[in-house]
Amino acid sequence: MRSIGSTDHRPALLQRKGSEMNSSKLAAAASHYKSFCEALGIPMNTDHSVDTPMRVARMFHNDFLVGVREECPKITTFPVDSMLRDQLVIQCGIRLRSLCSHHHVPIVGRAHVCYIPGESLLGLSKIARIVRWCAARPCVQEELVHLIKDTIKSAINPTFIGISVTAEHECMSCRGVTEPDSLTTTNVFWPSHNEDTRQEFFLAISHWLQARGANR
Ligand SMILES: [Zn+2]
Repeated sequence: MRSIGSTDHRPALLQRKGSEMNSSKLAAAASHYKSFCEALGIPMNTDHSVDTPMRVARMFHNDFLVGVREECPKITTFPVDSMLRDQLVIQCGIRLRSLCSHHHVPIVGRAHVCYIPGESLLGLSKIARIVRWCAARPCVQEELVHLIKDTIKSAINPTFIGISVTAEHECMSCRGVTEPDSLTTTNVFWPSHNEDTRQEFFLAISHWLQARGANR
């Protein structure tokens, strides 16, 4: 069994300094957000809004930006028996939450991942952890699938990877064109020429959609 990534083994004093740094960053972010709102004419001194700047700063820090400030989670891998080296592993329907780089509003959707192990297997839960870490930052969906692919590739050096993400972009549904029903799908395959494996992956996604009665 091998692992990449790291846990925090620093002395308690250094960890405390890290959290103090986080609180000063949060205070600065909250102060700037308050100014941002006031510049747009939003009253920030009501019972419901007085704590909003810190609430918003914490939301971005804790919910949307984990991938910006933290290393990739520890990834457990397992050696592969020769009979499993060419087996396609498919995981469908991983929930995904991200932030659009262009408008800083949510992207909500599902990721589907497949790979052929080669020398190593990923722990199954680690696939979801990789997807969530990759998504926990401002991104464009077209690039996100490549980040997931490259992170898996560097963890286990598989012989094939496929990533498909389907998501709703609130910058499409809640503003601008206000198109509430559109979903965006982005796919990436490495290497790109393995048509039979791609079809097997898409069939698994379609079975997952039928089983869940879901369209995303
Ligand atoms: Zn956007």
